Amino acid sequence: MEPQLIAELRAIVGASRVLVDPRECEPFGRDWTTFWQARPGAVVLPGSTDQVQQVVQLANRRRLAIVPSGGRTGLSGGAMACNGELVLALDRMDRIIDVDPVAETLTCQAGAITRTVQEEAARHNLMYPVDFASSGSSRIGGNIATNAGGIKVIRYGDTRHWVRGLKVVTGAGEQLDLNRGLVKNNSGYDLRHLFIASEGTLGIICEATLALTRPPRGLGVMVLSVADFAALPEVLHRFKAALTLTAFEFFSHRAMAAVTERTGNGSPFADETPFYALVEFERGGDADERDALAAFEDCVADHGVRDGVLAQSQTQAANLWALRENITESLSPRAPYKSDLSVPIAAMPAFVRDIEALMANRFAGLEVVWFGHLGDGNIHLNVLKPDDWTTDRFAGVCASLGQSVAERVEAFGGSISAEHGIGLLKKDTLHFSRSPGEIELMKQIKRIFDPEGIMNPGKIFD
Ligand SMILES: Cc1cc2nc3c(=O)[nH]c(=O)nc-3n(C[C@H](O)[C@H](O)[C@H](O)COP(=O)(O)OP(=O)(O)OC[C@H]3O[C@@H](n4cnc5c(N)ncnc54)[C@H](O)[C@@H]3O)c2cc1C
Repeated sequence: MEPQLIAELRAIVGASRVLVDPRECEPFGRDWTTFWQARPGAVVLPGSTDQVQQVVQLANRRRLAIVPSGGRTGLSGGAMACNGELVLALDRMDRIIDVDPVAETLTCQAGAITRTVQEEAARHNLMYPVDFASSGSSRIGGNIATNAGGIKVIRYGDTRHWVRGLKVVTGAGEQLDLNRGLVKNNSGYDLRHLFIASEGTLGIICEATLALTRPPRGLGVMVLSVADFAALPEVLHRFKAALTLTAFEFFSHRAMAAVTERTGNGSPFADETPFYALVEFERGGDADERDALAAFEDCVADHGVRDGVLAQSQTQAANLWALRENITESLSPRAPYKSDLSVPIAAMPAFVRDIEALMANRFAGLEVVWFGHLGDGNIHLNVLKPDDWTTDRFAGVCASLGQSVAERVEAFGGSISAEHGIGLLKKDTLHFSRSPGEIELMKQIKRIFDPEGIMNPGKIFD
């Protein structure tokens, strides 16, 4: 990047807040994906919304592409800077600004770590319920920019449900205070929602006011072993009828084996079954536990459940959750192709059968690992890279696989991205989930917020 530009950036944020050494910049220019090489031109670390605004205004004057970067835990390549872009990293803007226990809101800078927000809410006997395995490193701005979901969506909804207000700097360099943290505000279009799931293509989210809620009095956790994936929707139905569920997750035996191999902790079951379900429910008293056991017995009798474990302590509950929460990390050494898909819950068994047939017929030899948020109709398809394949060869095959899977998703009435976003990974298949009219409107909206096209160019669509 030209020295004059670096000098101008340094004048805004301070000399040490602009990185130019490629080795220092590289980690800021990537996320968890493995198909692309990060090559950022420079990294800028602003400390305030005003500094973000000045950087964006400078980028507009110089037609400089910006890639916003949060915790860099994204799984769709949205935070990848591969073409000499300026990475605008929110790492320094990580402050909790205020907790309002009456309004039950928390206001923070966009770089606040998700876990920090959860812990701050808990200090006020409140809860920020959006949670997932990367909460210890993902940042609120990244969660909002991807509308992150996670393990509690069945009870609490995704990030969108919890965003009361946003302070943003648009791609044009204008500061906007969207919805001002209000509960009720029917004064025209709610622009806040355009920034949720915008993947950094409209502007920079600088501050967020998040709604909080009361935590449940207690939680029960069970893991069930299941003979056949086809049984799972009915098991979900039975448990939903009996209890207030806060999570209903599933994983295949291969997924659990990856975790037990990595952690050294054994399986809770003597016998292996192809699938397992993790059920978490609100446990106000013993009656809830009795209801859970009754649902379990019904499912053993009628719905293909073979065995079950009910946590008797918080440690046991954490150990059961670890079986699910450690899957992504345990698979990551195999550089998997990851696709997060949603289809109607009732269609999930037929969809899984269909994709398994596709894999056997056209991609034989590639190993598939299934897990996901069954209660939300959300399936994570993971295909492991064979050890002796290059990344390029694997990426090529996965591009073709991605097209075929997207065709099947469309046929089943689903979405090619349930929660990770489109980024670079899925932009070639966006048309399987959004109509030409919708895509054109999205492009027009981007032009309004970002007339020079500097914000995360090439992500979501070209
Ligand atoms: C182990 C693991 C488990 C995961 N589990 C889940 C899960 O269950 N559910 C789920 O939804 N996701 C999950 N993810 C994906 C990921 O953690 C989420 O998408 C997360 O919200 C991304 O946040 P981040 O701060 O890391 O964003 P980044 O990866 O840094 O960025 C993501 C996107 O947001 C943009 N962006 C970041 N910050 C801003 C900002 N301030 N303003 C504008 N744009 C911005 C980036 O340009 C990029 O397009 C998981 C990831 C891992 C590694």
